[in-house]
Amino acid sequence: HKTLLEIKNLQKHFDVWGGNLLKAVDGVSFSIKKGETLGLVGESGCGKTTTGRTLLGLYSPTGGEVIFDGIDVRGAKKREKQELKKRMQVIFQDPYASLNPRMTVGDIISEGIDIHGIYKGDERTRRIGELLSLVGLNKEHASRFPHEFSGGQRQRIGIARALAIEPEFIVCDEPISALDVSIQAQVVNLLIKLQNELGLTYLFIAHDLSMVRHISDRVGVMYLGKLVEVADSTSLYENPNHPYTQALLSAIPIPDPRVEDAKKHIKLEGEVPSPINPPTGCRFRTRCKYAMDICQREEPQLKNLGDGHLSACHLNK
Ligand code: SF4
Repeated sequence: HKTLLEIKNLQKHFDVWGGNLLKAVDGVSFSIKKGETLGLVGESGCGKTTTGRTLLGLYSPTGGEVIFDGIDVRGAKKREKQELKKRMQVIFQDPYASLNPRMTVGDIISEGIDIHGIYKGDERTRRIGELLSLVGLNKEHASRFPHEFSGGQRQRIGIARALAIEPEFIVCDEPISALDVSIQAQVVNLLIKLQNELGLTYLFIAHDLSMVRHISDRVGVMYLGKLVEVADSTSLYENPNHPYTQALLSAIPIPDPRVEDAKKHIKLEGEVPSPINPPTGCRFRTRCKYAMDICQREEPQLKNLGDGHLSACHLNK
């Protein structure tokens, strides 16, 4: 499969009070192949959502490159940019806040279709019905309002809206975090089904590591604006290299106590430090039980440990 999206050294800094810079995304590079799902995980404040929004152009990047299907998004002409916008969509975290309560479901879903003038009249109605059935709802729902639906159903509406103009790539920005645990798997399974049927490519942002494993081919772990580890899902979950990844994984509760005993237990202590003044050298060093002298002086770079498993830690010689 060919590469669909590539970001190189992406940066997004925000000006904050007192003339300080908040380096939310500070030099992140990765690529996603067509049809693939890359999971992006980390605690809140690590820059995953900002990464997703910046690569979509919802925030303008401070530096770096975003290349979509071979086209440099930042350098693209206005028309080309509009075309690219159609090919890239987003599903938001909060299905309560992201749907306009005064619009009918049909109008919400067809907003993109209407802006781009793709379908009109009966065709438009037919397309809305088709989208609703694609996400497990039905065409009678089109005339109803968001408050008449449950959280899971609202997220289905959000997904139908993202699919309306037939995108190829979707940033799923914590699409299940606001939902009941019992509903989360249903939404993830729906996203997997749609990916298979429509050949979609996803960036799946989440802090729930168990769900990320289920949907992702590869997973990237972010800490304080940096990518600290990337690997295919099996390798990341069974053989985590970076102490931060190990700590995140040992925080997942496992129902079987025998498995629990066998796991390396590393407790993640303290809070994520402020990205305004991150620690020198390795940004994780203030919470890392393996921290050494060099960790304070030198920033570890991502190193290939074999088979595309990358990790940025001085413990890797
Ligand atoms: Fe810990 Fe040092 Fe590795 Fe950072 S570079 S994760 S501080 S051992």
